[in-house]
Amino acid sequence: MRGQMMNQPLTITSIMRHADAQHGSREIVSVTHDNPRHRYTYTEAFRRVRKLANALSDLGLKPSDRIGTLAWNDYRHFELYYGVSCAGYVCHTINPRLFEEQISFIVNHAEDRCLFFDAALVPLLEGLVEQLESVRHFVILTDRDHMPETSLPGALCYEELIESHSDGFDWPDLDEHEASSLCYTSGTTGDPKGVLYSHRSNVLHSYAAALPDSMGLRAGDTVLPVVPMFHANAWGLNYTIPMVGAKFVLPGPESGNPGALAELMQGEGVTMAAGVPTVWLGLLQHLAKTGQRLDTLERTVVGGSACPLSIMDEFREKHGVETFHAWGMTETSPLGTLCTPKSDFDSLAHDAKQAVRAKQGRPVYGVELKITDDNNIEQPWDGQAFGSLKIRGPWVADGYYKLDKSSAHDSDGWFETGDVATIDPDGYMQITDRTKDVIKSGGEWISSIELENVAVGHPQVAEAAVIGVQHPKWAERPLLIVVPDSDADLTKEAVLDHMRGKIAKWWMPDDVVFVDEIPHTATGKISKLKLREMYQDYTLPA
Ligand code: ADP
Repeated sequence: MRGQMMNQPLTITSIMRHADAQHGSREIVSVTHDNPRHRYTYTEAFRRVRKLANALSDLGLKPSDRIGTLAWNDYRHFELYYGVSCAGYVCHTINPRLFEEQISFIVNHAEDRCLFFDAALVPLLEGLVEQLESVRHFVILTDRDHMPETSLPGALCYEELIESHSDGFDWPDLDEHEASSLCYTSGTTGDPKGVLYSHRSNVLHSYAAALPDSMGLRAGDTVLPVVPMFHANAWGLNYTIPMVGAKFVLPGPESGNPGALAELMQGEGVTMAAGVPTVWLGLLQHLAKTGQRLDTLERTVVGGSACPLSIMDEFREKHGVETFHAWGMTETSPLGTLCTPKSDFDSLAHDAKQAVRAKQGRPVYGVELKITDDNNIEQPWDGQAFGSLKIRGPWVADGYYKLDKSSAHDSDGWFETGDVATIDPDGYMQITDRTKDVIKSGGEWISSIELENVAVGHPQVAEAAVIGVQHPKWAERPLLIVVPDSDADLTKEAVLDHMRGKIAKWWMPDDVVFVDEIPHTATGKISKLKLREMYQDYTLPA
């Protein structure tokens, strides 16, 4: 027997309608290149979203056409998120910091019909325009007064484009499974791959993200996503914040400026902020130097790469701010796990608490995790055994745009994250490596990340990376690559002495090389791919 409940589709349009009706007077505050502090309300934002939807239909777009954005976190980007998806097109967010070839690859692969972009990115697009095959309209996110000179064909000004249109729009009834948005992974390995979110996946993800033991968002919060809108929908916050009716604070081009962030947080009364560890490292250094306070900030969510305990400790001890470690991927919308306490946490001793905090956390309801070995055999949840991390759930990608599904899923349909992890008896997951980076020595796995963490604990090591290099007996052995502090007089023995006793004997690197610089990807992660290429013929000492 089927239940007799209404089949109301879970669409982003429904989030917009709810925010408009319930939280219309809440503010959205942004920094933009043409205005240091723009502020308006959700009501005003959605009025402009309807004008934008009318403008888009006048551009002659068809349902499901992809519309690309290259923009920072600000109110115009917010309007595009809703105007595009709710009108039945696909909002394709693109990371402007990617290499130029990757941007043109992504735009062509997605067949974007229009591009909306920040005025500062005009030179970038002028350089790429010859390669962009599908783009018919270039729209600069600014007003008439700030419209730059450009050779881009028929370039339009965003404010001019929307101003003459009606603020009434009849939103289409969309199927909840329709695509709403598209985001390419940064392609640390191979070409970027498109993750095509649906209205339903975004709505369900937002419900989960808002739960008390997830990001715990409330109408009374003021939230600042430092994480970019072009990275997995600002971790879904673009939908979750209006869903709960929180005040929205957007740092625009200032997201990398610790002083500006501190001022925005203090001035706007930010209670919750989300970003990658490097952002918080910069902010904490700034606060230590200036003695500035963050009186309203209650919590931060940190993810994207492992968050060092030192960041969490400083936030908690000096500023009374709780930090929650989170793990996710573009392919998981991105929320997979969050490290929030369970009921017995308060009774734990300090060290045991720290051990929990360092983990990436437990899955939010909706996603399931498992770890498997090379033969797809599930590994125990004992906090020791590690295996390939697999995930499934309604906001996990079922395939990549225009690609064969099998490439990223195991035979049971679970998505292979490419991460290696342990899971403890309480269900907390901890990342130990990327599948491609784990070192397979004589059939046993060595975690490159753990070796790096121990190595950077040496006071004269600025940065460290570990890769596996060929070994005649063990197949692979770890090579440690170190960037010493500029004035350091560091020796191989000193680094190895520091590591001895902190890791298993057989995990000790077979050799250490000193370099001036370690290569990074466009998203700031260490490029192990490059390092492996550089050291592919490296001979380890006998
Ligand atoms: P890309 O690596 O292509 O930029 P994502 O931005 O989606 O793609 O990154 C996802 C990956 O980032 C994860 O698979 C994981 O390796 C890493 N990651 C994310 N959060 C964390 C975390 N808290 N700790 C360690 N690694 C993390």
